[in-house]
Amino acid sequence: MFPPPYAYGTVQATAPPITGGLVPVVNRIATDKPYVFITIDDGAIKHPAAAEMMRKAGIRPSLFLNTKYIEGQRDYFKALPVTVHSHTSTHPNLSGKGYDFQKNEICGNADFITGEYGKRPTLFRPPFGNHDNTTRKAAADCGFKALVMWTAAVNDGRVQFQAGDKLNRGDIVLMHFRTTFAEDFQAFLDRAKADGLTPVPLEDFLA
Ligand SMILES: [Zn+2]
Repeated sequence: MFPPPYAYGTVQATAPPITGGLVPVVNRIATDKPYVFITIDDGAIKHPAAAEMMRKAGIRPSLFLNTKYIEGQRDYFKALPVTVHSHTSTHPNLSGKGYDFQKNEICGNADFITGEYGKRPTLFRPPFGNHDNTTRKAAADCGFKALVMWTAAVNDGRVQFQAGDKLNRGDIVLMHFRTTFAEDFQAFLDRAKADGLTPVPLEDFLA
């Protein structure tokens, strides 16, 4: 269990503004506190240990989910202590695609999540991280506040860094709902603790 640095749900910072009709691209969070952020994508494998591991750790991950993986799975995801965000309907590579195609993938997923979970998602992550200005425009037009990337990832039970050999304050960590969920999530928790960082909700910094 990490020490709660502040009451969850408390806004710490707002997202950068939408300029020129394009949502901002957020790679990391600017903070002078020892905070780190965990995001979990796709939703392909509904691992049975996820809810208990999240509760035990006392943290609230941000999920970026695709309609194609979570259709008919509302009970599983509703039981998790998380906030659900958007990752397109079918997980295509958006970069270079036309506006209508991108908007349909992004808005369609947002509409689906709104219907399933009763709250409109505010953050969008493009599949594979691939995006262009059309993506940013479509995301703005679909009501999103920011396009969220990442600075570290967990694969096969190991945290991998884009630079250096540890997590730093403000890092956004990417993992997935895979068969290795328990190993990956534990690797993140151990790494955060070793580096003196407390996981806090991303939404509190991109309100
Ligand atoms: Zn994905």
